[in-house]
Amino acid sequence: MRLGALRTAKGQRPLTLTDTFQIEIVTPDKMVVKDVAEEAQIPGKNGYLGILPGHAPLITELAVGEISYRNHDITHHLAVAWGFAEVLPDKVTILAETAERSDEIDAKRAQQAKERAEQRLKSGSTDVDYARAENALQRAECRLQVCEKK
Ligand code: ATP
Repeated sequence: MRLGALRTAKGQRPLTLTDTFQIEIVTPDKMVVKDVAEEAQIPGKNGYLGILPGHAPLITELAVGEISYRNHDITHHLAVAWGFAEVLPDKVTILAETAERSDEIDAKRAQQAKERAEQRLKSGSTDVDYARAENALQRAECRLQVCEKK
């Protein structure tokens, strides 16, 4: 629904302000979400960003974290890792390395990945890639957190 129009410099087409925006979440494998949202939270590299319709355009890198968006009083939750987000006044596009809706997450797999990463991190072994294990731990913890929100 159209709520109003933003004033612009003389002669320019007015920008329309609506109460929803498009949201698309894409990975190299598939389109995970193509929906409409009233608000969204995304894990930017420097912290979570709250998005409402009409948000100023920006591009940000994504961290590992949860994306949530609300549409018609239903809040959807996804676990995402790395990538980019483009925010426009009427559309948010997320290009993520991985993204899973909460109902797609295999909690047992995430728990096993978490335990594997924890073992590696506390092993003290020089063979372990600690940055990789730390990233795996973050992804697993995020998936476990998001799958509880089904
Ligand atoms: P694992 O060690 O269990 O593979 P990972 O963190 O190394 O976990 P990723 O490399 O992040 O896995 O993801 C590989 C693919 O598997 C992606 O398509 C991702 O969406 C999917 N995936 C990973 N873990 C899960 C999970 N717990 N539930 C559902 N899909 C998952």
